[in-house]
Amino acid sequence: MTTTRLKTIGLIGGMSWESTALYYQAINREVARRLGGLHSARMLIESLDFDAIAALQRAGDWPAMGAILADSAARLEAAGADCVLIGTNTMHKVAPAVSARVRIPLLHIADATGRAIRARGLARVALLGTRFTMEQPFYAERLAGHGIETRVPDEADRIELHRMIFEELCRGRLLDASRQRLLAIAAELAARGAQGLVLGCTELPLLIGQDDTPLPVFDTTALHALDAVAFALDGATEEHASAAA
Ligand code: GLU
Repeated sequence: MTTTRLKTIGLIGGMSWESTALYYQAINREVARRLGGLHSARMLIESLDFDAIAALQRAGDWPAMGAILADSAARLEAAGADCVLIGTNTMHKVAPAVSARVRIPLLHIADATGRAIRARGLARVALLGTRFTMEQPFYAERLAGHGIETRVPDEADRIELHRMIFEELCRGRLLDASRQRLLAIAAELAARGAQGLVLGCTELPLLIGQDDTPLPVFDTTALHALDAVAFALDGATEEHASAAA
């Protein structure tokens, strides 16, 4: 029988913890699906206090946030993580500072998403997320690197979506009125040529999913989680299969 060393996934979470819970479930479910039995992920989560991060976001102090997340990544690496994930789209703005601090790879959420969009044969998508994600170039540029063009809502809708994320979703409040508003925003972007819908905020899958819209939905939380599992099981699946035979 072959002994398999699953790689350890390191996750910088807590931004918000509502979506970190989704990561934890999605990662473990995928490991169990692929390996069977009682298998679960080897995983380290460092969950930050989001209130402090959100205050720095409002102040625009991205260097301070970069330092906080880089410290977190270094602690995960020292504790044995083989890769690091930042469990939020927005905070990928500081991904360069984080990856510069560690030797282990940073699995970028927009790369996992970009590959999934390309695999569906799409090249133009609606991007929903925080104002930071929708308005600053760091996310759209990363998708552009995969040959993908993004469309974002108009300013009033961007403000409303941002409010919904921080005042409702990050606090676990799921309101039907907000779901309807979100779907109306998505339909408007489809009318403007978007072929798919990127849930570019890790809490958005709490509110909408593929069953709610005819547009192909790209759930960044799930895609990022699957990417982490692919990394962790790289070379491990076959060994388990032969061990079971
Ligand atoms: N989790 C959200 C995201 O994916 C928003 C929270 C944050 O600002 O980090 O962007």
